[in-house]
Amino acid sequence: MAPTQSRIPLVDLAAQYRALKPEIDAAIQRVVSRGQFILGPEVEALEQEVAAFCGARHAVGVASGTDALSLTLRACGVGPGDEVITPVLSFVAAAEVIAALGARPVFVDVDPLSYTMDPAQAAAKISSKTKAILPVHLYGHPCAMEELVSLADRHHLALIEDCAQAMGARARGRRVGTFGTAGCFSFFPSKNLGAYGDGGMVVTDDDALAEQIRILRVHGSRRRYHHDVLGVNSRLDELQAAILRVKLPHLEAWNEARRQHAGTYRRLIGEQGLGGLRLPEERPGCQHAYHLYVIRSAQRDQLASALTQQGIGVQVTYPLALSLQPALAFLGHRPGDFPMAERATMEVLSLPMYPELTPPLLQQVVGELARALGVALSRS
Ligand SMILES: *Cc1c(COP(=O)(O)O)cnc(C)c1O
Repeated sequence: MAPTQSRIPLVDLAAQYRALKPEIDAAIQRVVSRGQFILGPEVEALEQEVAAFCGARHAVGVASGTDALSLTLRACGVGPGDEVITPVLSFVAAAEVIAALGARPVFVDVDPLSYTMDPAQAAAKISSKTKAILPVHLYGHPCAMEELVSLADRHHLALIEDCAQAMGARARGRRVGTFGTAGCFSFFPSKNLGAYGDGGMVVTDDDALAEQIRILRVHGSRRRYHHDVLGVNSRLDELQAAILRVKLPHLEAWNEARRQHAGTYRRLIGEQGLGGLRLPEERPGCQHAYHLYVIRSAQRDQLASALTQQGIGVQVTYPLALSLQPALAFLGHRPGDFPMAERATMEVLSLPMYPELTPPLLQQVVGELARALGVALSRS
């Protein structure tokens, strides 16, 4: 699938750039003229602005969302022999970094309404080796944080939120990323707050944890060429930080636009009387960030190919539960171990979702969806 060639793409990053071009171009010029490119004043300012946005004491910029997870796990002391509880329906990053540290990702099935980790099943997976719980606010929907916070507290576990898809989402009025030990964000270009390259951030209220991540991201060094621990090179660069500082003040309005589009999708799909589709829902007290707008249909594959043919950008997020990924076969899972997630992977379909969508564009998407669904149903 090539979203850039679609009539209505899955995401449209060029539309956002057009709207902010003078400010973004000026920010890039400012950095290039200053001549400081790694960990300078833009990164420091962005860290303060993100901390304030989230309502956290600290924010630490790193090279990617994946590194935000990896460095946070390391700073929490996760290592060989430990277990980390995490959802089986997600992007691979969390499972990948847990395994890379020599720990074991212990998968939990998802709640079929929100697609986020089921807290009751998470509780059942806690063992004497469990070191941390790592929930994912999948598609932008906040996890059941109250239950997960009390579970982590009861068992004295670190609670690390993967907020890569949910920056700005709230649960009970509070921003995701601030419920547990730390929150990890990604600035991958297509995320709700996207850079023009890779980038990530960790937010936390824990002074020692923030300091540890600051050290790990620069080769384990507090003072240049003096290394207390072995770290990595995982820094956010000044150009990305300057670009993100232009965008951050718009994030709240962009997320609000996404929520409005979700409402419009629901209304239009209802008006068309499209049966057999399941639409995303918000758990009470939650504010979804709609990183993705994910519907479900038993005719998913037919819908996906029909919509793609009509120039509508769609995506299957995700086609395979993590338990069935070849790279994680060493965990020994089999089909059927996680029925909710496995069924979701056969039925989910992401429709175009970005702030710059308009009601006429949404109408076109739903029109094509109705057509595709009519054809699919007449054949089945
Ligand atoms: C994008 C994403 C990541 C990884 O972020 P990168 O910046 O691409 O490393 C991690 N977890 C989830 C759920 C993601 O969607």
